Amino acid sequence: MRVTFLGTGAATACPLVFCRCPVCRAGWERGGKDLRRRSSALIGEDTLIDLGPDIMSAAFAFGVDIGQVRYCLQTHAHSDHFDAGHLITRLPEYAVRDLLPLTICASPQTIERMSSRLALEEEGATLLDKTWQRRLSLTVRPMEHGDTEVLGARRVTAVESAHDISGGSLLWVVEEKGSAFLYATDTVRLTDRALSLFHDRGLTFDAAAIDHTYGPGTPGGGHLCADEVTEEISRLREAGCLAPHCRLLATHLSHEGMLPHREMSQYARSKGYGIAWDGMRIEI
Ligand SMILES: [Zn+2]
Ligand SMILES: [Zn+2]
Ligand SMILES: [Zn+2]
Repeated sequence: MRVTFLGTGAATACPLVFCRCPVCRAGWERGGKDLRRRSSALIGEDTLIDLGPDIMSAAFAFGVDIGQVRYCLQTHAHSDHFDAGHLITRLPEYAVRDLLPLTICASPQTIERMSSRLALEEEGATLLDKTWQRRLSLTVRPMEHGDTEVLGARRVTAVESAHDISGGSLLWVVEEKGSAFLYATDTVRLTDRALSLFHDRGLTFDAAAIDHTYGPGTPGGGHLCADEVTEEISRLREAGCLAPHCRLLATHLSHEGMLPHREMSQYARSKGYGIAWDGMRIEI
């Protein structure tokens, strides 16, 4: 299974638009891995995690074809993870050629919120009725904690996240040919139910991407900081959920308490994980 990180930044992107802190300055001066788009990831060629606002910028930069995406696994509907404008272009009046059908998997709450945002783009548009689903050439699969679906060559499982609980945030497990990948942003501490699910299903991850919004010693709301990432990795390992060779990568990074990419990577290496970057590809 190939995973391409299209974006590894938090809601702020990085550098932040008006910020002159050392991390943001490093972004402007160094470019490359110090420039972070809002988070999303492509699995193979046909499965997208989060229809985010920066996916086209990533597609231009990294030469990926979002037009091949058949399945969208949506973590939640926060604006850094969902851009309704991308969905609207699927309406016939935008004259898109060779449009492939799309299946959107998300929690019922996320689908409701995505639908409300769609209506702001196009009066009356909704994800909740068959007529509009047909007009948009898509189907919607509501999924809740523990639900599993087979999508093409892969099996995906929805896992609850305690990030914005009323919004029905989900983490995703993607399995292909005996390999398992955990995509865990946005999240705070993994819930006991999430760990039990991994244990009960016998899941051992070959790779995991974990929310790392804030740097060392900088706990914040609704997300993990570096120290908490180390703790969550320990919890996953103690629960027997990590393969010995598991590739652990931080994603969804902002600037608070952070270091520029190179220095942050040195810190992370000393703790047993790595820092993902925009355009990074891994084979699992
Ligand atoms: Zn986010
Ligand atoms: Zn900054
Ligand atoms: Zn969020």
